[in-house]
Amino acid sequence: RAKEQGQAWHMVFDTTMYDRAVALLQLETDLRWAIERRELRVLYQPIVSVATGRITGFEALVRWQHPERGLIPPAEFIPVAEETGLIVPIDQWVLRESCQQLRQWQLQFPDIKPLSISVNLSGKHFSQPCLVEQIDQILQQTNLAPSSLKLEITESVIIASPEKAASVLQQLKALGIQLCIDDFGTGYSSLAYLHHFPIDVLKIDRSFVTRLDKNGEQLAIIRAIITLAGNLGMSVVAEGVETTDQLVQLRLLQCDQAQGYLFSQPLNSDKTSILLAARPQF
Ligand code: C2E
Ligand code: MG
Ligand code: MG
Ligand code: MG
Repeated sequence: RAKEQGQAWHMVFDTTMYDRAVALLQLETDLRWAIERRELRVLYQPIVSVATGRITGFEALVRWQHPERGLIPPAEFIPVAEETGLIVPIDQWVLRESCQQLRQWQLQFPDIKPLSISVNLSGKHFSQPCLVEQIDQILQQTNLAPSSLKLEITESVIIASPEKAASVLQQLKALGIQLCIDDFGTGYSSLAYLHHFPIDVLKIDRSFVTRLDKNGEQLAIIRAIITLAGNLGMSVVAEGVETTDQLVQLRLLQCDQAQGYLFSQPLNSDKTSILLAARPQF
C-alpha cells in the first residue's frame, strides 16, 4: 500500500517536472522569435538628483509582451535567455532601441539638461569579442553622444575574469561611455578592488536602501560606501528608494542620485515623453 502511494506520488512528481520542462522549452522557442515579432518593450525608469529632484537620466528595463502570457518581467525570461545565449541579441536590441529613444528625446526637448540612458549588460554579452565595435556602431547609427550612455554591469562580471574585464572596460571608457556597477553590495567585491577598474558610478543595491529605515547599522554601511565612493571619484545611485524617510536619509548622507518607486515606476516611452514635457527642467 505504501509502495502504491509511493508510485502515485512519483507519477505526480514526474508529470509536474515534465510539464515544467515543456513550459520552459516553449518559453525558449517563443523567445527565439520575440525580437522579430516585435514583442520586446523597453521601459524607462527615471533617475533623479537627490539634491534637486531633477531627472538626470533613465534606466532602460526590458519587458516581453507575450501574445498569450501577457507582459513578462525580466526575472522570468532573462535566466532562460542567458542559458541559451539569446541574451546577446536581446541586450543589443535594448541598447539600440534605448539609444535611439534618448536621441529622439534630446531632439524633441532641446532645452532639457543633459540626460543619460543606463543600459544593463549581461555577462554573456559583455564577453562577446566584438562588443566594443558593436556598441560604437550603435552610437554612431543612432547619433547619440557616448557620454550620454551608461553601461551597467554587476560585480560578478568583473570577478569572473578581471583581466579581460579591465581591458574591455578601458576600451569602452576610451569611447567616452560611462560605466556603472549595478546591485553593489550583493557580490563579493570591495570598493578598494573595484577602484582598479574605470568605474564612474556605483549603484547601491535596493536591499541596503530598504533596510535604511529599520536600523542604524545600515546607515553606517551606506554612509561608508558613499564616502569612500566619493573619495574614489565615483558617483552613487541608490536603487529602490520607496519612502520619503529613505530619501531624507540619503540626502543627509549626500548620496548623488536615486531611483525607485518613490519617484516613478518604469514607464513606457509615451508616458516618459509626457513626463519630460510636463517637468520643468532647471
Ligand atoms: P536592475 O538592473 O537592478 O534594475 C532595477 C530593478 O528594480 C528593476 O526591475 C526595477 O523595476 C526595480 N525597481 C526600481 N525601483 C524599485 C523600487 O522602488 N522597489 C522595487 N521593489 N523595485 C524597484 P526589473 O525591471 O524587473 O528588472 C530586474 C532585473 O532584470 C534588472 O535589475 C536587471 O538585472 C535585469 N534586466 C532588466 N532589463 C535588462 C536588459 O535589457 N538586459 C539585461 N541583461 N538585464 C536586464
Ligand atoms: Mg540595472
Ligand atoms: Mg540594479
Ligand atoms: Mg537590483
